[in-house]
Amino acid sequence: RHQNASIPITTTCPYCGVGCGVLARVDGVAGDSSHPANQGRLCVKGSALHETLVTGSEPSFGPRVGGKEVGWEHAIDRVASAITDAVRDHGPGSVAFYLSGQLLTEDYYVANKLAKGFVGTPHVDTNSRLCMSSAVAAHKRAFGEDCVPGCYEDLELADLLVLAGSNAAWAHPVLYQRMKAAHRAGRKVVVIDPRQTATSELADLHLKLRPGTDTQLFNGLLVWMHEQQALNVEYLTQHCSGVEETLKAAKRSAPDIDAVAQVCDLALEDVKAFYQWFTETERTVTAFSQGINQSVAGTDKGNAIINCHLATGRVGRPGAGPFSLTGQPNAMGGREVGGLANTLAAHMDYDTPGARELVADYWQTDRLADGPGLKAVDLFEAVHRGDIKVLWVMGTNPAVSLPDSARVREALARCDTVIVSDCVSTTDTTAFADILLPAAGWGEKDGTVTNSERRISRQRRFLPLPAGVKPDWQIMSEVGQALGHTKAFSYRKPVDIFREHAALSGYRNAGERVFNIAALEHLTDDAYEQMQPVQWPVKAGGSGGLQQTSRLFSDGCFPTPDGRARLVPVHTLPPGQQPGEHYPLVVNSGRIRDQWHTMTRTGLASKLFAHRDEPFIEVHPDDMAGSGLLEGGLAVLNGPSGQFIGRVRRTSHQRPGEVFVPIHWNGQFASSALASDLMAPTVDPISGQPESKHGIAAIKPL
Ligand code: SF4
Repeated sequence: RHQNASIPITTTCPYCGVGCGVLARVDGVAGDSSHPANQGRLCVKGSALHETLVTGSEPSFGPRVGGKEVGWEHAIDRVASAITDAVRDHGPGSVAFYLSGQLLTEDYYVANKLAKGFVGTPHVDTNSRLCMSSAVAAHKRAFGEDCVPGCYEDLELADLLVLAGSNAAWAHPVLYQRMKAAHRAGRKVVVIDPRQTATSELADLHLKLRPGTDTQLFNGLLVWMHEQQALNVEYLTQHCSGVEETLKAAKRSAPDIDAVAQVCDLALEDVKAFYQWFTETERTVTAFSQGINQSVAGTDKGNAIINCHLATGRVGRPGAGPFSLTGQPNAMGGREVGGLANTLAAHMDYDTPGARELVADYWQTDRLADGPGLKAVDLFEAVHRGDIKVLWVMGTNPAVSLPDSARVREALARCDTVIVSDCVSTTDTTAFADILLPAAGWGEKDGTVTNSERRISRQRRFLPLPAGVKPDWQIMSEVGQALGHTKAFSYRKPVDIFREHAALSGYRNAGERVFNIAALEHLTDDAYEQMQPVQWPVKAGGSGGLQQTSRLFSDGCFPTPDGRARLVPVHTLPPGQQPGEHYPLVVNSGRIRDQWHTMTRTGLASKLFAHRDEPFIEVHPDDMAGSGLLEGGLAVLNGPSGQFIGRVRRTSHQRPGEVFVPIHWNGQFASSALASDLMAPTVDPISGQPESKHGIAAIKPL
């Protein structure tokens, strides 16, 4: 079936967390009208997928050790011996894995099992740390588990749609199209964003707030609703804890609406309109994304939003709930298997009672890591210090994407052994690889991904696997076997891994944990091949023998020890860096419409440069006055840890004193335009997510 170019294969887009279904052929793609996420739609990036196939973009490459091409057997032996030597001489914590939301769930599962279960290192983190880890932490604090309670349909059903820190029109385009199509008389949209974006065009009210003040805005909303006696007291009494402490903290942070308007730098009547609409509208969804997450207070901001929904009983009901928009195609799948350093497996943490014993027993290992490992920024700092001797990077480009990327590149250069698995041999990170392993890319591999609404979909292979290339799960299984764990890594195909992953989610889980897909543990090879998109938790029963779940917590029961959701006291924490004499500007960063991450894939399609063809800096007219900056001229932003060169775009879309730069350009396209060079490695103390939306800099003409 993979060789017949005329028959499209049903698969899933590898870019954003909307998770659109795609009908793919080598020479063209179309939206899958049967996929519930996109119902046939595709955005510009999705429509160009066939132009960005890695196959054919460069001569296929074989495994390399020390820059020399070698056979697979030799490469696997070298990986295994590097890990064995490091563990023997320095302990298991001297080995680290850095994974990616681009990996399929099956790849992620094997990586987590190999690292935590058999190498015994806790240091396994992922680029999802840069993306959604604050939302993960907020979900866990409020609900007891990392769960998005609602589904995409809720964004359409909502009579009030609040978009906080989300430029969905560019970052989640197909979902935005659905939001737009659902617009009707009486429905209102509020956009909360310091910038005017393509998304704010949909807004009835755009709150262009001062960066970093979202906490006060939502704390103020809670206080306002309390004063208006608009809280759902019955729901709070029956289903929630932490109410009094949370209200007290909210009052300290945002005592009244005047204080909120002042601190957020908003017109009083706009704040009031938002508060009134939220108070009056039962069907309210607050969708939040990187503008909330990528902050030193990202977790608190997420909880400030969730607090308002819990306080009004608006969780898990049609058209009502907080909704975290996931950045990557499989950020949620990685979270499900335990791909974050602070999680263990199947939505269990190290400190979940009995979890370590359960997982050790299930995997039949006596080497399971003891406790949480280092999160991304700390992990690379440990590499820089020399504590990590072997680092294995899979399917991601930290030399461009992590904050203070110059220091990350230094760390990579210092590390004894850097192993990189990737489908491209020429990224900024592969340049540091002592061992480079060619991994299958999109279209060449099989497995599953989970999108922002908990929907598991198949990614299917429609291209022949190039000679010498292997899928990630197979590479890691061969390393696991070379380390002597033959039985534990005896997988022959992705479905073997999926069945094991599904069974673990139900192992000794009589309902304590929501993430449960055990009903899929006996899928036949054929059923896996034919598998239709399904939202977890999945139970036996219903049509086709399976019952999926659109909404969670509709019954007011939560996976916490007392079954109650928790309102979380949220205090005010300002951004880590404040502008001043030397660096007077705030730097905001984000995605543009037609590019993806560090451009290693979308950079292959010339048409995706038609929208924005070079790095740019958006500057407010007030900041251009008397500066010598010219529209269309080159300028340099100098920050405490690096610089960014781009072409000036004069626009009042952002506030005076603030500039915006895109995150995509990598070292090959424009080594002087890495947004990460302007970002300090300041992180949220709870989630470890870097504050990638708030740097400081000075600007001058080049
Ligand atoms: Fe792909 Fe996201 Fe576009 Fe859908 S919206 S086609 S998942 S990039």
